[in-house]
Amino acid sequence: MSKYELSLAKKFVLDTLFPTSCLGCRREGNWLCSACFSQIKILDFQLCPVCEKNITEKGALCPDCKKARKFSLDAIVTAVSYENQTVKKLIYNLKYRFISDSSGPLSELMLKALLRNDLPIPELIVPVPLHPRRLRWRGFNQSRLLAENISKNLAPLLEIEVMDVLKRDKNNKAQMKIKNYRERLRNIQNIFSFNARFSKDILKNKEILLIDDIATTGATLRECAKILKANGAKKVYGAVIARQTIK
Ligand SMILES: [Zn+2]
Ligand SMILES: [Zn+2]
Repeated sequence: MSKYELSLAKKFVLDTLFPTSCLGCRREGNWLCSACFSQIKILDFQLCPVCEKNITEKGALCPDCKKARKFSLDAIVTAVSYENQTVKKLIYNLKYRFISDSSGPLSELMLKALLRNDLPIPELIVPVPLHPRRLRWRGFNQSRLLAENISKNLAPLLEIEVMDVLKRDKNNKAQMKIKNYRERLRNIQNIFSFNARFSKDILKNKEILLIDDIATTGATLRECAKILKANGAKKVYGAVIARQTIK
């Protein structure tokens, strides 16, 4: 049996044992059928990413927050509500059941939101990096998969480059596991850096779209944006599937 035949056989066995079915209605065939996909509501307004109180255009900072402190991100576009159970299941599948195909419908939702909010077309897409140990454990970087799908479909006839210009130097605790706000901030501070594999001026004056799966306080995106701006980026917009609020 060739390697290819073996992988087909393996896929056949897996498909038989764990048939792919829609996470919304359980119909077989897809992780999300088109009917359930079209039922997922894209948020029809965006909030200021800092205070999460004021509605702003394209998820930009509200005037108060802009004045109050330096925030390296220019905006965050959130696609859907974290309360959507189908979306929650898709994210769980992707991150903890290692089903990379779940990134397809999730990136479609992000695309819809990006187009609706009419963000400027970025010159570069950057995924939030995983620590190498985490990457080995999962086998893929879920944010990178989302970024790749978005890059192919954001602007017709134009494939925007996805670049891993950031690296995560510390295998920090997952933000979602930390309840305390201050601790979350501390957990994420100074853990990213510029990937020296790339030339120093690669980000110079560029408009960048930063991709992550879920944002909570926005601290991860902000830390990444800080590095991108320190290395010359002109604008950094963030995009996430959903935002989780701390209770
Ligand atoms: Zn369905
Ligand atoms: Zn604000």
